[in-house]
Amino acid sequence: MGKASRDKRDIYYRKAKEEGWRARSAFKLLQIDEEFNIFEGVKRVVDLCAAPGSWSQVLSRKLYLPAKLSPDTKDDDLPLIVAIDLQPMAPIEGVIQVQGDITNAKTAEVVIRHFDGCKADLVVCDGAPDVTGLHDMDEFVQSQLILAGLTIVTHILKGGGKFIAKNFRGKDTSLLYCQLKLFFTEVTFAKPKSSRNSSIEAFAVCENYSPPEGFNEKDLHRLLEKIGSPSGTEDLDCSSAWLEGPNKMYIPFLACGDLSGYDSDRSYPLPKAADGTYQCLDPVQPPIAPPYKRALEMKKTSNQGIQNLEKLSLNS
Ligand code: SAM
Repeated sequence: MGKASRDKRDIYYRKAKEEGWRARSAFKLLQIDEEFNIFEGVKRVVDLCAAPGSWSQVLSRKLYLPAKLSPDTKDDDLPLIVAIDLQPMAPIEGVIQVQGDITNAKTAEVVIRHFDGCKADLVVCDGAPDVTGLHDMDEFVQSQLILAGLTIVTHILKGGGKFIAKNFRGKDTSLLYCQLKLFFTEVTFAKPKSSRNSSIEAFAVCENYSPPEGFNEKDLHRLLEKIGSPSGTEDLDCSSAWLEGPNKMYIPFLACGDLSGYDSDRSYPLPKAADGTYQCLDPVQPPIAPPYKRALEMKKTSNQGIQNLEKLSLNS
């Protein structure tokens, strides 16, 4: 009864089962392809955060199976599809699976090894953290997955290649756009029809990979290595002195106010009146409800109690 009602409410859920897709997400990738033609000329792909595997199925059906069935394809020419997820995934024809965390540099290294020095034409990332419901938090964790994805991209994607990454629309979307624009000449945020309007997810479609001149992907990888491993955070070199050239980060830091004015870290002599005394002024507005208010009241009543007791003992 419950299942049938979802079939009725969610046409993509129903269609996914009819067409043999493991998840309704398959339609999102298919619809992105309809618009952006992302599979054209693609022979090597990385599918990040791939479980349960509907995007990998799309890649297999669109790229691997047609090549395999073609009498002209030699074994060496078969498309290479590498899929990574924290979760294990049931096998899919033509898809190499790696189980691991994409924010961990070691997983990135395993993926890179599978490519054996060759570059990928396409990297897709449908990664989603376990949503907490705290929007800012979810958006932040999601952006860490995109950063991890981008790090793998910088090692593996060929010049001119494409990167598709799920993101959560929010206040940092324009920042993400600017960051992706540093690496790709075309960046579009797409919302496939199969993605519910009530969902804040969208997909960054990044085309024509062209990193800035002098960009050293090893530095981004090192950053992931340091941040990604819990033990690595201790020796995280915050000065980023090891970064060079265009990879170096300069964090703007601006001193404001009159630089020859008072120094907040120094002590200054107290101004004295003509008679040599110093008059200390009361605060202009004392706190009206300080957290220590009750403690003051208790102290006051107990002082009064002591004074009353003292008066009583003097009079007796
Ligand atoms: N594209 C998939 C499909 O079509 O079947 C669906 C992906 S699902 C929406 C999100 C996946 O992200 C989950 O399987 C989850 O395990 C994976 N994920 C989340 N964080 C990850 C991480 N740090 N490393 C690897 N996978 C991760």
